[in-house]
Amino acid sequence: MIENNDLTEIHDLHRYLTIIQNIHVGIVVIDRSYTVKIWNGFMEINSGVTGFKIIGKNLLEYFPDIKSSWLKEKITEAFQLENTVYSSWEQHNEVFNFKNNRPFTGNSEEMYKNFTIIPIKSITGGTDEVCIIIYDVTDEACSKQNLEDANKQLHQLSITDKLTNIYNRGYWEECLKQQFRIFMRTKTPVTLLMFDIDHFKNINDTYGHPAGVQVLKDAGAILKKIVRNSDIAGRYGGEEFGIILLDANREDAYHIAERLRKAIEQHIILFDNLEIKFTISIGLCTLSEVTSSPQEWLIKTDNSLYFSKEHGRNRTTQYGLNDTEETMNIIISKRTQTTNN
Ligand code: GH3
Ligand code: MG
Ligand code: MG
Repeated sequence: MIENNDLTEIHDLHRYLTIIQNIHVGIVVIDRSYTVKIWNGFMEINSGVTGFKIIGKNLLEYFPDIKSSWLKEKITEAFQLENTVYSSWEQHNEVFNFKNNRPFTGNSEEMYKNFTIIPIKSITGGTDEVCIIIYDVTDEACSKQNLEDANKQLHQLSITDKLTNIYNRGYWEECLKQQFRIFMRTKTPVTLLMFDIDHFKNINDTYGHPAGVQVLKDAGAILKKIVRNSDIAGRYGGEEFGIILLDANREDAYHIAERLRKAIEQHIILFDNLEIKFTISIGLCTLSEVTSSPQEWLIKTDNSLYFSKEHGRNRTTQYGLNDTEETMNIIISKRTQTTNN
C-alpha cells in the first residue's frame, strides 16, 4: 500500500525529472569511470543520441571526438577538489560539437557552450559522480565576437588613409617612433624611405583634381605591391609618402627604392581616355646611432628627398652616400631660409 508521504516523494521526483528533462541546459551525470547515469532532453536533441542508448555506456567511448584530455582534466579536478569547476566557451568549445539551433542567432554554425562540473556527494559521503551542466551561450558569444569585429574595423578605419588604403600620418608617425626605439635596442638595420610625386601640381592643373586623386591611389597601390607586407607604409601628406623598410640596410633599401621608382615611372594611368604618367623623387636614410631621434631621422630622409628634387627629380638619394656632407648642408641651409621667409 502506498503511503501519502511516498506519494508526495514520487510526485516530487516526477517533478524534478520533468524539469531536468526539459530544461534548456545540458545535464549529464557520469561516475568515475565515465559511465553515463543521466542524459537529459537537451543532450538528446543536440547530440542526436537518446538517453536510452547512452545511459550505462562510457561517455568518452561513445563520443570519440570529445576533447577527452581536457574534459578528463576538468572532471578529475571536480572529483579531487570536491568543488565546482567552471569553463567558458572561450577556453574550450570543442567538447561536444553541437550545431547552433537558434534561428535568430545569425552568424554562427556552431553552438557556443559554457560548462559547469559539479561533484555529487553520495548518501554515504564519498563523491562518486559528477554532473556536467552545459549552457548554450551562442547569443552572448556571437554578440561579443560581433563587438570585437566592429572594434577591430573601427580601429582599422582610424589608422587608415581612406584614399590610398595605407596608414594615415598619425598612426604612421607612431610606428616610426616605435621602430626607432626598436633599432636603439636591437640594432637591426632599418631604413626610412620618403617619396614625393614630381610636379603633382601640374598633374592637377593639366588633367584636373580627380585625375590627381587617381594618381595618389595608384601610387599607394604600386607601393603596396613593391614593398614587403611587414614594411610600414603611410601617407605622410598630400602627395608625400613614407615607408619604414624593416630589416633593410643601405643596399637593400636602395634596390627597393629603385624598383618602386621604376615601377611608377613605367606605370600608365588611363583617365578619361587620357594617358597619364608620373614620377617620384625618393629620399632614404638608413638609421644609425648618430641619429638621436625619430624627428632627426625624418628630417635627414626628407633632406635626401629634397636633394633628389634639386638634382632633376625622378631619382633616389641616400642620406650620407650620394650627397657629401657639404652639399647636404647647403640644402639644409637653403631649406631653412625658405621656411623662414
Ligand atoms: P614637386 O615636384 O616639387 O614636388 O612639385 P609639386 O607640384 O608636386 O609640389 P608642390 O608641393 O608644389 O604641390 C603639391 C600639390 O599637391 C599641391 C596640391 O594642389 C596637391 N595636392 C595635395 N594633396 C592633394 C590631394 O589629396 N589630391 C589632389 N588631387 N591634389 C593634392
Ligand atoms: Mg610633389
Ligand atoms: Mg610635396
